[in-house]
Amino acid sequence: MPALHDADPEVAGIIAAENARQHAKIRLIPSENYASRAVLEATGSILTNKYSEGYAGQRYYEGQQEIDRLEELAVARARELFGAEHVNVQPYSGSPANQAVYLALADPGDTVMGMALDQGGHLTHGAAVSVSGRHYKPVQYGVDPATGRLDYEVIEDLARQYRPKLLFCGATAYPRVIDFERFGAIGRRTGAVVVADMAHIAGLVAAGVHPSPVPHVDVVTTTTHKSLRGPRGGMILCRREYAEALDKAVFPGLQGGPHNNTTAAIAVALKEAGTGEFRTYARAIVDNARALAEALAGRGFDLVSGGTDNHLLLVDLRGKGVTGYQMAKALDAAGIVCNYNLIPGDPKPARRPSGIRLGTPAVTSRGFGGAEMEQLAGWMDRVAAIRADEGLDRKARSAAYRKVANEVRGLCSRFPAPGLAEV
Ligand SMILES: *Cc1c(COP(=O)(O)O)cnc(C)c1O
Repeated sequence: MPALHDADPEVAGIIAAENARQHAKIRLIPSENYASRAVLEATGSILTNKYSEGYAGQRYYEGQQEIDRLEELAVARARELFGAEHVNVQPYSGSPANQAVYLALADPGDTVMGMALDQGGHLTHGAAVSVSGRHYKPVQYGVDPATGRLDYEVIEDLARQYRPKLLFCGATAYPRVIDFERFGAIGRRTGAVVVADMAHIAGLVAAGVHPSPVPHVDVVTTTTHKSLRGPRGGMILCRREYAEALDKAVFPGLQGGPHNNTTAAIAVALKEAGTGEFRTYARAIVDNARALAEALAGRGFDLVSGGTDNHLLLVDLRGKGVTGYQMAKALDAAGIVCNYNLIPGDPKPARRPSGIRLGTPAVTSRGFGGAEMEQLAGWMDRVAAIRADEGLDRKARSAAYRKVANEVRGLCSRFPAPGLAEV
């Protein structure tokens, strides 16, 4: 980025340092990934210069000859890849996509139902601190405390009792397959519009590795930057009957001009996601998650629900004598990046929870396989033991973490990540 280096060495320096960090550390945050160079080039393109309020053929500014073509291409690719009747590619991200669904299909004060944040749901599914919980009446469901899994009987009973206008399914920390067909049936029987938020698993759905919600529910929302490996953005997929209301909610209801550079990068990512190579990638994400789960379980780590069917794991650390917060900080010092996370029914508060959340989309993008998952579990076990060892002072601990970080760096140097500049 020579122009940036000249114009603003301070920002260029921060980006270079972040590039080095993304190269030298193992990234296990399940919502993160490495976008391809092609996606990054489209994101950084001159399309950022153009205003395009409205939709193809009905814009409020002239000069849309190329932008209309671009947006129609992105929409056509999304419809084809996911088999959707209608697609809107303009939402700025996943949260605004959900916000548009509320605006289109519910009125303030209406009852809406979603998975609780502390059970694995997303903020936008009715959490009290979010506009979705403040402007609507949220009814929240969780997982069965004994199994760590969704209990569809309980969810259906709640829906019958509260008759929500909208029923959200989809999660941000749920390691198992979600039965979208069952959610669709619950919605039909209780009169709710069912919204599947596939933000985390869109790449798995595109590749056929997780069952698609599209045939079973009314509306599907997603981000484009998680397992789908595109730019930061959002999409809404829906049945034709909801198309007009949802389009109007995105623009002019909620947003102004679409980010055309992002639209271009979404189109590129959708093309990439339609390839056989991407299907192989998505299968490897799930294989790696399963291998990591088995390797961790073999070292005495306790996994919520006993394992995983998708790209993520929730690890309950109470048996290891460390909290999720301590473990996440210790792992970062050792070159392994994850996030601390509540586990279902966690006795601890959200800022100091008992678990961590791990995901395999990013490491799979850089080519990690079963052997690396085994290696990773070994490092995690070592880090937990270092953190829990009361005989070590702060300095001794730091030195022990640094030793792991060096080994991690050695592994990472053998697996260059897509999109990054050389370091
Ligand atoms: C990440 C996520 C979102 C929000 O996406 P942002 O792009 O961060 O706004 C919404 N829903 C779910 C389930 C998510 O995991």
